[in-house]
Amino acid sequence: MEKVLDLLKIDAVRDYIARIGGDYGVDVLKIMAEADEPVTDEYIAGFLGVKVTVVRTVLNRFHFWGIVDYHKERDPDTGWYTYTWFIRLGRLREALLEEMEEKEKEIIEKLEELENYMFFECPKGHERVTFEVAMELNFTCPVCGEPLKAVDTEKEKEELREKLREIAKIKALVRSM
Ligand SMILES: [Zn+2]
Repeated sequence: MEKVLDLLKIDAVRDYIARIGGDYGVDVLKIMAEADEPVTDEYIAGFLGVKVTVVRTVLNRFHFWGIVDYHKERDPDTGWYTYTWFIRLGRLREALLEEMEEKEKEIIEKLEELENYMFFECPKGHERVTFEVAMELNFTCPVCGEPLKAVDTEKEKEELREKLREIAKIKALVRSM
């Protein structure tokens, strides 16, 4: 579970967990990873200082994605059921890899577009178009009439490459857990 805690320090992972689990998603998963054994929703709620219904909502969302599951036990004296929740590490690993691969694909597509086409843009930010379209527009912004300028995409490309390197690191970390 140490590696889950490491992963939860990474922004891209936190964003994903918050997206599938809601605002308290990251905190709930962190408490579960720290406990390192099945815990009740009351336990998590106590730690977080929120209502147990809030925690249940998060757990149900995670359960829908398959990244948590529960044991159900009946107390023989009271007849009440207790649910203890735990992280399904294998499924969490799969879900994170899928998410990272999807992101990777999007970034590669963007990068290829920047590498294969020349772009022109209005200095006031109205339009950004390919060379072909810029030619049709006589290199003039259709909104304000300013001349369109060739875009230097080097910085943007480097940022995308940096994102790819970060994703590669995350994937390696996920695979190692
Ligand atoms: Zn313009």
